[in-house]
Amino acid sequence: MTPRALEILNNVFGYGTFRGSQEAIIKHLIGGGHSLVLMPTGGGKSLCYQIPAMVRKGTGLVVSPLIALMQDQVGALLQVGVKAACLNSSLPLEEIRRVESQLVRGELDLVYLAPERLLQDGTLEMLDRCELSLIAIDEAHCISRWGHDFRPEYLQLDTLRQRWPQLPMLACTATADERTRTEIVNKLDLGDGRVFITGFDRPNIRYRVTSKENEKKQLLDFIKNEHHNDAGIVYCLSRKRTEQFAKFLNENGLKALPYHAGLPALVRQKNQNRFLTEESLIIVATIAFGMGIDKPDVRFVAHMDLPKSIEAYYQETGRAGRDGLPANAWMTYGMQDVILQSRFTENSDGDEKHKRSERQKLDTMLGYCETVTCRRQLLLEYFGEKLSEPCGNCDTCLEPVDTFDGTEAAQKLLSCIVRTGQKFGALYVIDVLRGSESERIGKFGHDRLSTYGIGKEFDAWQWRSIIRQLVTKGILAVDLEGYGGLRLTPSARPILQGEESLMLRKEAAAANRPKKVKKKKATAALLLESGTDAEGEANQALFEDLRELRRAIATEQEVPPYVIFHDKTLAAMALHRPVDEGGFLQISGVGQAKLERYGEKFLAVIRESS
Ligand code: ADP
Ligand code: ZN
Repeated sequence: MTPRALEILNNVFGYGTFRGSQEAIIKHLIGGGHSLVLMPTGGGKSLCYQIPAMVRKGTGLVVSPLIALMQDQVGALLQVGVKAACLNSSLPLEEIRRVESQLVRGELDLVYLAPERLLQDGTLEMLDRCELSLIAIDEAHCISRWGHDFRPEYLQLDTLRQRWPQLPMLACTATADERTRTEIVNKLDLGDGRVFITGFDRPNIRYRVTSKENEKKQLLDFIKNEHHNDAGIVYCLSRKRTEQFAKFLNENGLKALPYHAGLPALVRQKNQNRFLTEESLIIVATIAFGMGIDKPDVRFVAHMDLPKSIEAYYQETGRAGRDGLPANAWMTYGMQDVILQSRFTENSDGDEKHKRSERQKLDTMLGYCETVTCRRQLLLEYFGEKLSEPCGNCDTCLEPVDTFDGTEAAQKLLSCIVRTGQKFGALYVIDVLRGSESERIGKFGHDRLSTYGIGKEFDAWQWRSIIRQLVTKGILAVDLEGYGGLRLTPSARPILQGEESLMLRKEAAAANRPKKVKKKKATAALLLESGTDAEGEANQALFEDLRELRRAIATEQEVPPYVIFHDKTLAAMALHRPVDEGGFLQISGVGQAKLERYGEKFLAVIRESS
């Protein structure tokens, strides 16, 4: 490794060692090679091009799709004393002129540009007069027409290679299936470059899926019990639901804001900004929110509706815990979700082939929800990775699911559906099975059926679960046009005739659901535990004081608190309690510039508490 790169990592960024394949990537880029870098969110992609840009002579050109993302990155670089700037349409003309003259004079290590700005003739000609060190394409999946986030401006980026053939190029992204990957390599002509793929696992995220019963209460319990004062994202499918949930959370003493494409641009901007700068705000959003959100301390992502595919789910949940501290990905789902998503799929434009592929994606997603084995293993397998042991950090690992021989239950259910004419929804069928005395059943004469009241051994909650499982297994189909009526598919026959048996997932006993978890400590507190409880508490108190100081500094500079220091860095300060500058520099996340800027203030708070 070039010693200079390690020195920059230590002294500028304040980190002790490279992570994973960072070192290899950086070496390759400094040496002038092209590369495609696939790393999960939070893996540390930025350093892979930032450090080479500082080592190589000239300015590194970074193409980034979103202004907010650029500003965040540049802000963080300026904090550690790296000479960086961005050029985009939101800047006043004089600022653009100023950055351009800095560029031409060779004063910048890094410049961030949006593709449309970069590809203007004026910009390209100006850049011809500068000395450039490398080209980095951030969020490179935007180049792919297949991907979920195609941006037409990205298509013309291939001209960069022709214009500056001598410059090494790095393209990086957190999402790339095989097809997208090939498209990036072809489009950017990276054929002779190396592909670096880092594992997609996000071990600090805990995955959980619960059955929907009283969704509002479930969400509130989850946040109140486990995420006191934490920042989080709640995803919903419709604009209306984002508004409803945001209102509901506010009425219950939490701070929440809605975000969806129907809000005026200014309000959206404002809500996003508040989410970035405030420490314990919840954003309730449609999927319009999230791309380019670099906030490292999002502690939870909650899904109130079923995402349409595993890709979407993984991308959305991936926004939690980028700082590596424990985070939760929590979802509640029920039969209604299955119906809603299936309807979307069937009504979407696109040919039969497209619909088939959408259906398949949804089925995989449902399989994930109903799985009785480790969720992480299933997720990673989807991305072509194998986790040899169950992860120990998902709900099915932590509270193993009981299964039971559900053949007889399925037979009762299936015959009840046949007897009632294959047109009623889950609730009605369950009522008949459990022998409800509702008027409706009497009106249809279904209280005289042989299947009336034969299912009293299970409560409605368990029956709902059984129905969902049969739907996800393709044994039952749901009528998507009407009211969600259930009917049998050909796969139901062998079960009805006793030729096949069926293992099903058992729902937790009524007393245990939805689980009350005892109040957990704030996430950072886990890092602050020390020899004795008293020490742990003292660390916690110091941590809060350091946060207060960070908040004051961030407010003054009008930047998000995490740009000053990450929670993880503050926690390390509270735990190790450095007394002098030398000790302060040892803390991960403290480099030379931050020592000079903030060392004294933070050291003073630490000393005071000791
Ligand atoms: P990505 O762009 O891949 O989502 P980032 O580049 O934003 O990830 O990095 C995620 C976090 O990890 C950042 O806070 C960054 O400072 C931190 N990080 C990156 N590399 C290292 C390292 N070698 N040691 C410690 N922290 C690191
Ligand atoms: Zn697991």
